[in-house]
Amino acid sequence: IGDVRFGGDEVIVIAGPCSAESEEQVEAAAAALSKAGAKMLRGGAFKPRSSPYSFQGLGEKGLKILRGAADRHNLKLVSEVMDIGQIELVARYADMLQVGARNMQNYRLLEAVGKSPRAVLLKRGPSATIDEWLLAAEYILDGGNSNVMLCERGIRTFESHTRFTLPLASVAYVQQRTHLPVVIDPSHGTGHTYLVPSMARAAIAAGADGLIVEVHPKPEQAMSDGYQSLNFEQFAEMMAGCAKIAGAVERKLGDL
Ligand code: PEP
Ligand code: MN
Repeated sequence: IGDVRFGGDEVIVIAGPCSAESEEQVEAAAAALSKAGAKMLRGGAFKPRSSPYSFQGLGEKGLKILRGAADRHNLKLVSEVMDIGQIELVARYADMLQVGARNMQNYRLLEAVGKSPRAVLLKRGPSATIDEWLLAAEYILDGGNSNVMLCERGIRTFESHTRFTLPLASVAYVQQRTHLPVVIDPSHGTGHTYLVPSMARAAIAAGADGLIVEVHPKPEQAMSDGYQSLNFEQFAEMMAGCAKIAGAVERKLGDL
């Protein structure tokens, strides 16, 4: 993605709010994240929410805000596409398209992002087996788009202490089976702010090529996923810990 390369020596960190909420929120996040060593900004403009009464995202206005902040702070941008009709619009603003967990088995959407010139971050469906996840990636590759990354974001199990169960064996397993870079999402994977830094470090130890982490200037006021978001200080601390682990497994974390 431009000069940001996933799958090399460097572990790439993607960070940002769950949803773009306002110019001030996204600008503050992009500034702090870039300073702390993130290479890409994340943020949803179209949000797949469990409840139809929850905040659904700012749409194009959110994409404009995200793009502006990403450019000002030298970050690449990833944002979610929920349906085929949004691909062209999101691709106009974002450097990478996210296909969310709920859409991993939306085969027509997978085929359509396979025709896009943008890289795709394919999240694992919470009830999908690894084979189903890899075959979903195959739909995108078969469509002609070879820039696909896999994102493990946790699966549904009987455990209720964490929002999902984050299987880090996925990293080692899919690296055996495919050449595609693997990114871990410790935010959705745990559902609790206090668990995110530990699982971020563990993901790097396991060999992940990147992380995608939710960060918000004021997590307690976030319009979505605040309970699993880090504040800026927590993010900087997480990055310092991750850099040490990256060094131990002969990778690096940007300039840290
Ligand atoms: C998100 O990234 O905010 C999101 C909705 O993720 P997932 O599709 O993994 O639930
Ligand atoms: Mn989220």
